[in-house]
Amino acid sequence: MFTGQIKPFAKKIWLSSPTMHGEEIKYVTEAYETNWMSTVGANINEVEKLATEKIGCKYAVALSCGTAALHLCMRLVGIKSGVKVACSDMTFDATVNPVSYEGGMQIFVDTERDTWNMDPAALEKAFAIYPDIKVVVVANLYGTPGKMDEIKAICQKHNVILIEDAAESLGATYKGQQTGTFGKYNAISFNGNKIITGSSGGMLMTDDEEAMLRARKWSTQARDAAPWYQHEELGYNYRMSNVIAGVVRGQWPHLEEHIAQKRAIYERYKEGFKDLPVSMNPYDEKNSVPNFWLSCLLIDEKAMCKQVRSESEACYIPEHGKSCPTEILEVLGKMNAEGRPIWKPMHMQPIYRMNPFVTRVGNGRNHSDAYVGNIGNATDVGADIFARGLCLPSDNKITAEEQSKIIEVVRECFA
Ligand SMILES: *Cc1c(COP(=O)(O)O)cnc(C)c1O
Repeated sequence: MFTGQIKPFAKKIWLSSPTMHGEEIKYVTEAYETNWMSTVGANINEVEKLATEKIGCKYAVALSCGTAALHLCMRLVGIKSGVKVACSDMTFDATVNPVSYEGGMQIFVDTERDTWNMDPAALEKAFAIYPDIKVVVVANLYGTPGKMDEIKAICQKHNVILIEDAAESLGATYKGQQTGTFGKYNAISFNGNKIITGSSGGMLMTDDEEAMLRARKWSTQARDAAPWYQHEELGYNYRMSNVIAGVVRGQWPHLEEHIAQKRAIYERYKEGFKDLPVSMNPYDEKNSVPNFWLSCLLIDEKAMCKQVRSESEACYIPEHGKSCPTEILEVLGKMNAEGRPIWKPMHMQPIYRMNPFVTRVGNGRNHSDAYVGNIGNATDVGADIFARGLCLPSDNKITAEEQSKIIEVVRECFA
């Protein structure tokens, strides 16, 4: 329970904001001065090349956003009305909405505690209950790779296509391999809060040349080769702008530098909280290197004060020696620093309340858990992490001094 004094930062500390370096404006200006102010141009070609070189996929299609990339992934696998798609549950809704764009049905798969990503045991169970699942969509939450080997093996065993949502994990590796390469089709994002940004933008990555050509065609309204506008297929206006691509192009050389800064932030939090009843968002230290996009905290069960959440409000009872995400977020807000709750799991979202949700134990959805997020609940890991976890200010421009103040205030929440 926080009883200390708060001295707010004069300048807001963001969760994760864009960090520009100067080269971006050079490429944007180049686009302007050569008049390639369109969805064609050198910056687009260059960012596609940079992405394939860095990530190690053969082909990249630069698009208006990561959500568009995920939508085209759904088109590529040919989701039809009612087709079942097993999806990561604890993720941003952009991972799973494109399934609905194509009329498919999400089967939400619970989360494991080792990396906070899709639980392979729950995925196996999903196949046992729904043998007609055709596609798996897996996200790497907060820049931490999931259990890719196990998930890939399950997909191969059941002969289904894997789509990887690497929107948050650009630059992270699993067993030395870049994320964004584990699916047949993969998506990355350059949204304003991601590890590098174009202000917006995204990319579809694949090794399949035909898929790349189809995605590229669909992204420019699916124009056929003819002297007039001729269309045999449904298209979209999803191509990346050459101006946005200029910003992305200027950011690429700074990806590793951003990752190093984010890693330092994570390590400082970890050190600062080491004697508190909390832990950081975990990763597989032997097999993976996250990009440390967001640093998160998980409060031990025994150190949680009472906290209740409705669909739109939260409330807690202060208690000595204990705290909760609601209190910590409130205190961070008062000190002019931006934290955020853990991404609320999809099976708890009103829009997806009727979709199946598969957990490792128990059989099927437990509606009462879905509302409050039962603390320490073994049968709904996502709800538990949502109840006890939060995202900390993780902006790569935060100074060590500012971070020390944040650590101090979080520590005081447990007074
Ligand atoms: C940001 C994000 C997306 C969507 O990317 P946009 O470029 O914003 O459309 C998809 N999935 C996850 C997990 C994300 O965090």
